[in-house]
Amino acid sequence: MRRYFIFTFLFFFNFSVALADSTAIRLLSEYVQIESVSGKENEAAYFMANECRKAGFVVEYINDTTGSVNFAASLYPLSWNKPNIVFHNHMDVVPAGSGKYWDYPPFGGVIDKGKVWGRGAMDNKGLAIIQFFAAKNFLRSSYDLDLPYNVTLLFVSGEETGGITGSKIVAKDFIEKFNPQIVIGEGGAGMDDLGFLTKKSPIFGITIAEKQNLWLRLRWNTDYAGHASIVENDYASMLMVNGLYRLLNHPMPIIITNEAAIMFRALGEAIGGVKGSVMKKPDSRLFFKALELMSKNDPEVRDLVTNKITLSGIEANRTALNQNSNTESAYLDVRLLPGTSVEEIMYYIKSVINDDIVEIDIIDRGMASAGTVPDKYFALLASAIEKEFTDSKVIPMLLPASTDNNFFRALGIPVYGINPMMVSDKQLKAIHNYNEFIKIEDVTKGIVVFSSFLENLLYQ
Ligand SMILES: [Zn+2]
Repeated sequence: MRRYFIFTFLFFFNFSVALADSTAIRLLSEYVQIESVSGKENEAAYFMANECRKAGFVVEYINDTTGSVNFAASLYPLSWNKPNIVFHNHMDVVPAGSGKYWDYPPFGGVIDKGKVWGRGAMDNKGLAIIQFFAAKNFLRSSYDLDLPYNVTLLFVSGEETGGITGSKIVAKDFIEKFNPQIVIGEGGAGMDDLGFLTKKSPIFGITIAEKQNLWLRLRWNTDYAGHASIVENDYASMLMVNGLYRLLNHPMPIIITNEAAIMFRALGEAIGGVKGSVMKKPDSRLFFKALELMSKNDPEVRDLVTNKITLSGIEANRTALNQNSNTESAYLDVRLLPGTSVEEIMYYIKSVINDDIVEIDIIDRGMASAGTVPDKYFALLASAIEKEFTDSKVIPMLLPASTDNNFFRALGIPVYGINPMMVSDKQLKAIHNYNEFIKIEDVTKGIVVFSSFLENLLYQ
């Protein structure tokens, strides 16, 4: 019975991948056409929930209010409480900016030159479509068989604005419903143009950890308003400029976190050669020296091993031309490595600025979490990728930015971030930018990768 079943499955599977190509691209195009800028996800949610129902998924809304709607589409009802493989995606997109910079209308979903064009095509609607068609391949068998896992597609709101209307709600109040064994969300991808690698075989990074966001306001308040010609040397504008100069020019110390060490070890293994053998020993002095050099020349490397402080804007209390402003503010965007606390970085900032007047306030902070230690699910994901992208190597990776993934990681759930596709530098730069696109090939291959991952898990 089982053998027979697998045979029909394989037949059905090959057939449905080919068929899925055009329907997947058409569905993605329609999905991109819904202008679901953060806070306006409802229409996109109802559209996708309906598509999921039509396909045969069990759809359950987690919450549904204007501006915050989250739903699950699963093989089996969540109430069955089966161990669950959760695929996470977000429905919201960032604004398109001025349409005149786009080659195609940003919400046109135009299919041209082997690509789907538009805001969200890559981030994150393309991934949702890949997850959808991969899971859909197992619907038929879920009706007949008691598969060992449930598979859930989790569609959320508000990722681009910090996850408060989406993943935060799900993680905080509803996670038990899901019984997640792992969560697979957005994150790394395949790259073959990594500047710091000499060997040009594609490397896929599955993210196992992320930096924590922190937004700070620094304020210099002095008593010296008054006439600009008679002030002392320690007026607010001057203190701010000098303090920021010290802070932004102070070299950030290199920190090799556990997560980065796991990554470098795997990367060394993957690239081999002299460079690889040095990388394989991330706690050696030789590696540290090499890392110092690499991170000086390559911001991509630097971001992986340092906390990052960016001045995102300044604000002055300007009045008359001949009057000093007595209060000045600077805004910092800070990205913290796993293991660096908010208190620690605030202490660092205060001591480098080194004046008595600066006050630091936290405006907002993201979720902190230690990384996921690669487990059997990581190995299964990696082998599914390596099967489809021959010659590629998969490594665990630290993402120097942050996504919703940390909400789930912080609960102790293993979380992997992966867009199962080869991404060029140009494609990466178009995210949150003009002319965002996804290649049709990315979608079709991505469906194959997730399908073969699920096949190994569900038919074990
Ligand atoms: Zn995204």
